Amino acid sequence: MAKVQRAIKPPAKMEGPERVERQDQHFSPEIEVKQLPSGFKPYPKNIQVSYRPFSMGEIKKMGQDEISLDKKFEYVLKGITVINMDKMQLTVADVLYLSMLRKLTIPGVDTVTVTKRCVHCGGYIVGKKVFLGEVEFQDLKTELPVSFEYEEVKYSFSPLTIGGLLEIAAETNEEPNEEQLLAKTCVSPSYEEALAMVTRLNNDVPYNSPDLAVLNTIDSMMYHGVAPIKLVCDECGLENKISLDEEEQGVLVLPFCEDPAPVEARISIG
Ligand SMILES: [Zn+2]
Repeated sequence: MAKVQRAIKPPAKMEGPERVERQDQHFSPEIEVKQLPSGFKPYPKNIQVSYRPFSMGEIKKMGQDEISLDKKFEYVLKGITVINMDKMQLTVADVLYLSMLRKLTIPGVDTVTVTKRCVHCGGYIVGKKVFLGEVEFQDLKTELPVSFEYEEVKYSFSPLTIGGLLEIAAETNEEPNEEQLLAKTCVSPSYEEALAMVTRLNNDVPYNSPDLAVLNTIDSMMYHGVAPIKLVCDECGLENKISLDEEEQGVLVLPFCEDPAPVEARISIG
């Protein structure tokens, strides 16, 4: 699909109506967002979304031990305010982006330094700084929901919500497979019926079945998020990319992430 990308203004420079000066219990400003990777398409028209930077207390707590997916998103969602919709209805991609905003607006932090091993030559790309101003979206292109008919049943889809992800993660011990994740994006009929259909199309029909092609197209139509951030390797000059929805997401999304060995990606602040 063609990429329509656009830069997002760094909130630090936002003034006037973009910035809602409402104090919460953490005494940090709430900042209203006007742009999200989903383009607000899955949401009611009158929705308002705002966030506040991660607090020092949250940074401390999130830096402790290995935390579960549940707990991780619980901390992330605490600093996100949604008016006129349950915040569990936010898409996963929008929540990851909002978490990144929460991180990049911590007082005194406007860049995240990424260190990554080059996928081409294996050398380390050290100290690439990511600024909020250079973040681009891969927008959700379609209006919603997207539907198709299979064996006289109409299946309707909308992008995976954070509530849906946490439900399916809990049911599968944090290891949902592709089919379960896709079925979870079905808004009608039920998840169980969608899972039966998805499983049947993936396993029981020829790989070139037009029905399977339709399903795969719908799956890709749901895609949206922050565009991969480019890192050029000093050693070989080739481009690497880092995405919010990949393993290294902690670097861009969470205030601190574990420092695994071998170290593939690390973060420093400032
Ligand atoms: Zn390289």
